[in-house]
Amino acid sequence: MFSAFTDISNLLQQNNTIFITLSVVLGLMVGSFLNVVIHRLPKMMEREWHHNCLELQGKEVPDATKYTLASPRSACPNCGHKISALENIPVISYMVLKGKCSDCKNPISMRYPLIEALTGVVIGLVSWKFGYTSTTLFAWVFTFALIALTFIDFDTQLLPDDLTLPLLWLGLLFNLNTGFTDIKSAVIGAVAGYFILWSIYWLFKLVTGKEGMGYGDFKLLAAIGAWFGWQLLPAVILLSSVLGAIIGISLIAFAKRGREVPMPFGPFLAIAGIAALFSGQQLASYYLV
Ligand SMILES: [Zn+2]
Repeated sequence: MFSAFTDISNLLQQNNTIFITLSVVLGLMVGSFLNVVIHRLPKMMEREWHHNCLELQGKEVPDATKYTLASPRSACPNCGHKISALENIPVISYMVLKGKCSDCKNPISMRYPLIEALTGVVIGLVSWKFGYTSTTLFAWVFTFALIALTFIDFDTQLLPDDLTLPLLWLGLLFNLNTGFTDIKSAVIGAVAGYFILWSIYWLFKLVTGKEGMGYGDFKLLAAIGAWFGWQLLPAVILLSSVLGAIIGISLIAFAKRGREVPMPFGPFLAIAGIAALFSGQQLASYYLV
């Protein structure tokens, strides 16, 4: 058993094509799970808040274990048809079913296969970049978390602590023995990441009386600082702000989106975080001597 494991390990180490292909397959499968996380985690949080309120009022609290990431099984929102394992193969099932529920033929959102494909592609690129190393394992988890956070923020304007805080801790842990940066830079990065956005938030609020972003954004930038060190924070902030401004202005100009519609900042932070993962040192080298 152990020798078989060593053989596979050697094969993956020597054959990059097999390793990257298997990574893409893993990414597709995790992407399918991320669809569940993106859909259910905000609902689970909402239930928890509701239950806490009931508890404070001394009322009876319903059983919270009935709605988790694992149960109930995924079903068609239109007819309640339970999705079978065969109908749950990433991307392929969507194509075979031609984007429709097998029972009631109600269209299934294109977003599900797109998130699966996106996760597969990015995980493949991560494996290609870092090879068969422990760094790849950490970078996978970083990527999964950022993809989930992006879409949750997009849908609900929330960045759950359940994702941002473990992401921050994992970044510090990874850098204990210099993963992407030394532990000193990582700790300063985490604190500075939170503090910079917190300051901008209060400054903006004092000047305009409006809230430009949320506390989740501070925690996400803190997590990115923990992964890449304080040195990369200027690049991440600049990149996410420029992206946010371009997309925001385009939406107002072309999609006639109202100025007052709040736009999540998390997705842009996440894109900048992925950019830091792929070309962090280059980004920082433009301004660090
Ligand atoms: Zn259906």
